[in-house]
Amino acid sequence: MDFLPFTRPCLDEDTIAAVTAVLRSGWLTTGPKAREFEGALSAYVGGRPVRVMNSATAALEIALRIAGIGPGDEVITTPLSWVATANVILAVGATPVFVDVDRESRNIDLNRLEAAITPRTRALLPVDLAGLPVDRDRLYAIARRHDLRVIEDAAQSCGAQWQGRRLGSMGDLVAFSFHANKNMTSGEGGCLVLNDENEARLCEKLRLQGVTRAADGTMDVDVLGGKSNLTDIAAAIGLGQLRQLDGFNARRRYLARQYFVHLDRTLGLELPLPEFEQGNWHMFQPLLPLDRLRITRGAFIESMRAEGIGVGVHYPAMHLFTLYRQRGFAVGDFPVAEDIGQRTITLPLFPAMQDADVLRVCEAVARVLRPVLV
Ligand SMILES: *Cc1c(COP(=O)(O)O)cnc(C)c1O
Repeated sequence: MDFLPFTRPCLDEDTIAAVTAVLRSGWLTTGPKAREFEGALSAYVGGRPVRVMNSATAALEIALRIAGIGPGDEVITTPLSWVATANVILAVGATPVFVDVDRESRNIDLNRLEAAITPRTRALLPVDLAGLPVDRDRLYAIARRHDLRVIEDAAQSCGAQWQGRRLGSMGDLVAFSFHANKNMTSGEGGCLVLNDENEARLCEKLRLQGVTRAADGTMDVDVLGGKSNLTDIAAAIGLGQLRQLDGFNARRRYLARQYFVHLDRTLGLELPLPEFEQGNWHMFQPLLPLDRLRITRGAFIESMRAEGIGVGVHYPAMHLFTLYRQRGFAVGDFPVAEDIGQRTITLPLFPAMQDADVLRVCEAVARVLRPVLV
């Protein structure tokens, strides 16, 4: 049987043809396709301004700069995410302040968030882990009460909704990722949803060397920008993916439900929140019952690999990485994130999977766990 990876991009022939057309067009870097992609993304989020970048990391860092965040400022975020989430805070010279996650949603615990706010807090940077949305009503109520900006790390939650409204169609600054493992991809890429044209113009400068061009062809630089523009090659992939995004997400929700039906509940796995309306099931992540197992997570992953199945780890709690320990974080600071980070496994989930693939994963999990369960 073929190896089943934990994720795999789904590219249709129309998308591949569109990329070929860009390659033949004579224009490879940011151009008409990138602008078309921005227009399509803007339409998808209800008409708000959108600018594309070569990664969500760039989009998040630019969002922090647009919000005027820098040295001396604190930004509150979750310790349970891809490390880009906190790295961008360090990159602009600000201080990441972590708040532990809620055990059910695995997202930042909104009950504990306000206690972390200080006079230096400038922004909240929440993450929709595995595409399960953070409660936007409570989040923005807190932000308004304390006059804070919100930079939504929606890297994993493209196409997810909150109370019937698409993420990105509301709120403050919202970043999506089009990394190859995300729900829609442009190979590498990302975008930022902005509040108005002024922010959009600043975003354009920050993503490309700070340059503005006047209609008469002259240019000026009045701010230090980086180099994070998206190529038209990538934009052509993204356009093809955006057309399919809602279908992809519907398929993911269906497959996630199949996991709930077929995973053996007597194996002691702790399943994710069974939410099938708002989230986009970017990942399906049970927690291993490590205190009842005679094997480590690493050994479990090795055994699954031997069964022909890829299992990922997303993510270890990031405050325990060396870079963050050097800034004073230690074991025990965020016990819920640490516990989830130690036990989490990402099982295969991507739109091209068949029902039989889910069954195959569930059977392999049972074969591996049953003999080592105490
Ligand atoms: C993937 C991811 C990012 C970074 O996205 P890139 O496009 O790879 O830069 C940031 N935050 C979260 C939560 C992610 O999953």
